[in-house]
Amino acid sequence: MDTQNIFHRLYELVCKDTGDRNESTKLIVVVRMLTLTMLVYSLLNSLLFLRAGHIGGMAFCQICMVVFLAIFVMSYRQHTFASYCILNIVTLVWLTANVYMFGWGIGVQTYIFVLIVFCFFAKYRHEAAKILYVLALLALRMHLYFHCQHYDPAVPVTSEINDAFQTLNSVVIFWSLALLSYYFSTDTQALEGKLIEYNEQLRRQANIDPLTGLNNRRSTMEYLETLLKNADRQISICLCDIDHFKAVNDTYGHNTGDVVLKRIAETFRTGLPQDCFVSRWGGEEFLLIFPQSNGDEANIALESLRRKIKAIAFDGDGTTFSVSLTFGLVEYDFHSDITAVLKEADDKLYLGKESGRDRIVF
Ligand code: GH3
Ligand code: MG
Ligand code: MG
Repeated sequence: MDTQNIFHRLYELVCKDTGDRNESTKLIVVVRMLTLTMLVYSLLNSLLFLRAGHIGGMAFCQICMVVFLAIFVMSYRQHTFASYCILNIVTLVWLTANVYMFGWGIGVQTYIFVLIVFCFFAKYRHEAAKILYVLALLALRMHLYFHCQHYDPAVPVTSEINDAFQTLNSVVIFWSLALLSYYFSTDTQALEGKLIEYNEQLRRQANIDPLTGLNNRRSTMEYLETLLKNADRQISICLCDIDHFKAVNDTYGHNTGDVVLKRIAETFRTGLPQDCFVSRWGGEEFLLIFPQSNGDEANIALESLRRKIKAIAFDGDGTTFSVSLTFGLVEYDFHSDITAVLKEADDKLYLGKESGRDRIVF
């Protein structure tokens, strides 16, 4: 088995799901990773003591190794919460023993900060217990500090071993904090991504007509209000309606009616100037807003659109048919309010219907 394969197998082993469906896999994976970290750390320390010929220190590190190995094995048998608690307790005993034995100078007490972060990232909802735990950790740290002020380390170490210890501890603490933060923040980031996507989806649902994909009446009113309020150039507004659309539904069915609506919406999108705001105003009525065109320019664009729509051959019961639209076009006069502008467009549309349909009234 090559090295890559061994690492892959080890990674799979560490990431193995917990048997309990109610438990978080993420937490047990972090418990295992931290336990393995402590295992490797104890091994390195043990080698350090071996090199220095310090039998007592080596024996202590080897006992730690056995305990961390036991926690690792236990994580596959116990509930996640039990493994998490045992790792915390053992780590606390381990760091207290380290400070008592080797003194404040080796820096192992900083590991308390890892436990604080771990405690808040673990998704158990025991808020009061978490706060009590943090206070207990603070008390422990203060106790260790004052103990070291009054007593010498039980096992004096040379300054060489002290420096090596300090270096190893710093690496382990930074690694553990980075691991915890990375592992638990990926969840939050994924969740944030999902929320942004979901908000966008909600925004679309609130503003877009689901059948045609055009802007709906709500978003159109918002757009129109802002546009007219800040009007500083020619604006044209057109209300249009499909002619005899009820007959299309009655003759070819409602589904064909929907196909017609969708196809007409598509023609609006492709056959009008880029800046034209197109919306489904009601059933088979559409409001088209030209934010930078005077009435004559809009009229030309609408005439071309009217012809394009009329030229479409729709399928219906083995035959083809075409539909036409009537348009009521208004050029904004810079002082009417929205209601008046829409009423004027509606009046013109009505005039177009009255005078034979399939035309633009301007
Ligand atoms: P006019 O030329 O006077 O506008 O006649 P019309 O038949 O188009 O007008 P009317 O108001 O009598 O009928 C409009 C029809 O539009 C009736 C309604 O069933 C249909 N309609 C409205 N919304 C939809 C829709 O989403 N899908 C389909 N298939 N039909 C719709
Ligand atoms: Mg109609
Ligand atoms: Mg209508």
